[in-house]
Amino acid sequence: GREWHLVARPHGWPTPEDFALREAAVPELGEGQILVRNLHFSVDPYMRGRMNDVKSYVPPFQLEKPMDGGAVGEVIASRADSLAVGDHVLHGLGWREFAVLDAERAVRADPELAPLTTYLGVLGMPGLTAYAGLLEVASFKEGDAVFVSGAAGAVGSQVGQIARLKGASRVIGSAGSDEKVKLLVEEYGFDAAFNYKNGPVAEQLKAAAPDGIDVYFDNVGGDHLEAAISSLKVHGRATICGMISVYNATEPTPAPRNLALVIGKRLRLEGMLVADHAALQPQFVQEVSAWIRSGELKYRETKVAGIEHGVEAFLGLLRGENTGKMIVSLAD
Ligand code: NDP
Repeated sequence: GREWHLVARPHGWPTPEDFALREAAVPELGEGQILVRNLHFSVDPYMRGRMNDVKSYVPPFQLEKPMDGGAVGEVIASRADSLAVGDHVLHGLGWREFAVLDAERAVRADPELAPLTTYLGVLGMPGLTAYAGLLEVASFKEGDAVFVSGAAGAVGSQVGQIARLKGASRVIGSAGSDEKVKLLVEEYGFDAAFNYKNGPVAEQLKAAAPDGIDVYFDNVGGDHLEAAISSLKVHGRATICGMISVYNATEPTPAPRNLALVIGKRLRLEGMLVADHAALQPQFVQEVSAWIRSGELKYRETKVAGIEHGVEAFLGLLRGENTGKMIVSLAD
């Protein structure tokens, strides 16, 4: 089967030459292992960090080795009692056509309950990030005015809708195109949204939230974070979830110039890692799947077909070519 290798460490923006699609033999199954034909795999912003050779909360990708990440697929051979041929699973060996792994490291995914791709998106890791980041980390409460950046993406679109469903007084989102802004207001029920490419974020945020915000959910960093610090009210809270605007930076990026406001306003800015919130998973799946069934929560996916387009999909994600979860589909 084919698999994507990292062959050079990108400096700044990754280029297609940093990656190679290689043919690899499928290893023999050991006792307790399964062979999975991957049907979809995830490309995620955090993978950019794994391309750097630095110690972080996830180990870096190794050069000349297959990359990995979330994937869903079908079991096509099994030497484990817990999973049989024909079962579908969620696991961590994406970026390849075939995966061999211990059955214990796979989670059953039922395509009858929800489309398989949702286990990578709205009901998967990005969904839990949104749910936990808003409700637990930002201590969201009814009546809060919430601003979320990256609002048309996988995490952001769910943050805004969960805030609305949980009784936010106002939900504001920012995104990188006028079409995305329209989607936020017309389909996802945001009260206001703006295109951050159309003018300074601080001015656009003030216009969208003249009375200020209680919660900021940061997916972007940079001038978005600075603008949010200015608009946060006293005792406001910010979940620092991602900073995609700096992931390809080659120089240290400036801190928010207004950081001293944190003192007088007694702001709480808190970083998060979704892995710390696994205990919320059952509650999250139950609540969000009910909202999806009732039509109260909507989601989009951008699917790129063919493993050979995997790297293009990842680069497209960094450029904002996705609406909702970016997925590489190997099926049909
Ligand atoms: P998205 O689906 O949101 O895709 C990334 C989006 O980022 C693009 O669609 C693009 O949309 C936007 N973007 C790219 N460059 C910029 C820029 N310079 N300024 C503003 N927006 C930009 O990805 P995810 O939902 O998977 O992830 C969202 C964020 O959450 C990321 O920062 C990610 O690292 C973080 N994250 C953190 C986790 C944690 O545990 N801490 C777990 C999961 C995700 P646009 O067209 O609007 O520019």
